[in-house]
Amino acid sequence: MNSVYERELAVAADAVRRASALCARVQSEIAGSVLEKKDRSPVTIADFGSQAVVCHALRASFPDDAVVAEEASDALKEAESRPLLERVVDAVAGWHPDVDAQTVCDWIDIGAGDAHGSRHWTLDPIDGTKGFLRGEQYAVALALIENGEVVVAVLGCPNLAVGHGTDSRGLMMAAIKGEGVRAMALNGADAAFSVTTSGTSDSTQARFCESVESGHTDHSEAAEVARTLGIAGSSVRLDSQAKYAVVARGEADIYMRLPTRPGYVEKIWDHAAGSLVVTEAGGTVTDIHGAPLDFSRGRGLSANAGVIATNGKLHDQVIAALDSVGVGR
Ligand code: AMP
Ligand code: MG
Repeated sequence: MNSVYERELAVAADAVRRASALCARVQSEIAGSVLEKKDRSPVTIADFGSQAVVCHALRASFPDDAVVAEEASDALKEAESRPLLERVVDAVAGWHPDVDAQTVCDWIDIGAGDAHGSRHWTLDPIDGTKGFLRGEQYAVALALIENGEVVVAVLGCPNLAVGHGTDSRGLMMAAIKGEGVRAMALNGADAAFSVTTSGTSDSTQARFCESVESGHTDHSEAAEVARTLGIAGSSVRLDSQAKYAVVARGEADIYMRLPTRPGYVEKIWDHAAGSLVVTEAGGTVTDIHGAPLDFSRGRGLSANAGVIATNGKLHDQVIAALDSVGVGR
């Protein structure tokens, strides 16, 4: 790509690759017993480690850019968290061998940047923490927002199949606004390839996806919308912005995220990267009322309710079905 954002994309992709590898390493160490004990420490370690690695990379290449990331180091600095902090440092040391605890905390806190300026990055160091703990889908999601618009996006999905004739897992999608989206193996193997949303315009043939977590989306309202659209099959449930990747490459036609309670404000880092990936693949992303996502309002999508991503062709039908079911009223 020969673009004004070429350098941004290259730096972001490199950072997401490293962070994804860090997360994958930590996830591979989770034994079943950890899951039974409901021990959240692996996700905490990977989450903070991922944020440290990405924030450091962004600061090194773009020292003037703000970074708006999900985590802050305060909790890690408390005395009882000292063992956790040491494990975060160990994880980060896989990439930066001489790093110490203070430096790691400083890197994490680069992510406390101003979300109201004209240019900032937004990072979800592990999106889909519940999926990460279950050994399922999660994503490292990084995007650049300029003047309220997402212009660069990189989504790392370590457990999503690469597809395209290989059996391996670990997919990355990278997009620049107006220039399309490319998919590639996270490990850099093989060439990048382009992806497009599906061509389905008959809603009865549509496949839809949604969160695993009933606390993050209203499953029963989504089922009602699906019935209204004449969709026969059940939803595919997966965690994280991997849902956007699945719509972008045409494996699903619709992603519905329906508010579970009035007043919940979606976070920009949960949707910035995924939404550009889908729109650059030919799809459409709006809120449940059909309004564009407004990334100009700081850390939250406070002007929007829920999120709907489709292949584009089905979008108006889905918005009409949501309206007839009364979602969000
Ligand atoms: P998912 O993996 O699609 O279920 O989404 C994970 C994201 O849901 C997390 O990163 C949270 O920021 C976000 N989240 C937390 N609570 C809610 C809620 N009540 N409604 C929608 N999203 C939420
Ligand atoms: Mg998230």
